Amino acid sequence: MGITLARRGEQGQASMDSIEKIRPVPQDTEQEQLERSQFERRMKPTVMIVEDEEALSTLLQYNLDKEGYKVVAAADGEEAALLIREVTPDLILLDWMLPGLSGIELCRRLRGRPETRNVPIIMITARGEETDRIRGLDTGADDYVTKPFSMTELLARIRAVMRRIRPALTEDLVTFGDIVIDRAAHRVRRGEREVHLGPTEYRLLDHLIQHPGRVFSREQLLDAVWGSDVYVEARTVDVHVGRLRKALNGKGEKDPIRTVRSAGYSLDEQFHN
Ligand code: CA
Repeated sequence: MGITLARRGEQGQASMDSIEKIRPVPQDTEQEQLERSQFERRMKPTVMIVEDEEALSTLLQYNLDKEGYKVVAAADGEEAALLIREVTPDLILLDWMLPGLSGIELCRRLRGRPETRNVPIIMITARGEETDRIRGLDTGADDYVTKPFSMTELLARIRAVMRRIRPALTEDLVTFGDIVIDRAAHRVRRGEREVHLGPTEYRLLDHLIQHPGRVFSREQLLDAVWGSDVYVEARTVDVHVGRLRKALNGKGEKDPIRTVRSAGYSLDEQFHN
């Protein structure tokens, strides 16, 4: 295989640095500091690998882990489809030729579902033909690498796709419409107004703002914001979304949070306009 082990790239280093820059502000209680450090750990982008070649999958897992990503792996399309219900990956590396459900078919399915419609997908394939490339991109993949590829090149592509599609993941200052989150100062503003949020509401907003338009079920929000090791009722999510709305929406201001009936919540993509 034409794969070389790569050292951590400079850009990858920079983006992890910006995540590490978030520091608790002094007036926080110990509980809040604990919650925040748990949240920061969870803020590592999750990459899902769907690849049936065990050696390649292991190599990818090793390198992505070293680069600072959280990694989950599936050996075929069916396993991937199941896993995606539990974890919401920030990016998917998807092999074209898989046993059973093909990469192309899986890609099409993911694009057809509101929860995964916006997840960046990089296709990995042995096919290098231009028509295949176009077919892959037509199906909804964001990028395409042909085997054999160098790990350095793949990691650079992953960073580029992340930056292009999910700038909110790596920046200190995130803007959505007239809402600004300053992660370094741990502050939220809407227009000229300072928005005071509790720690849970802050994490909720930060999570939603990383994935505009993506619909999260209550269970997914619980996992992402509260952590999968904490037992909280799904209804709790509604309470905190309510508080977030109350703090965020002043008189006559548009509500950026969309309630999707029997599905969950998302940040309204139309809010920008
Ligand atoms: Ca394969």
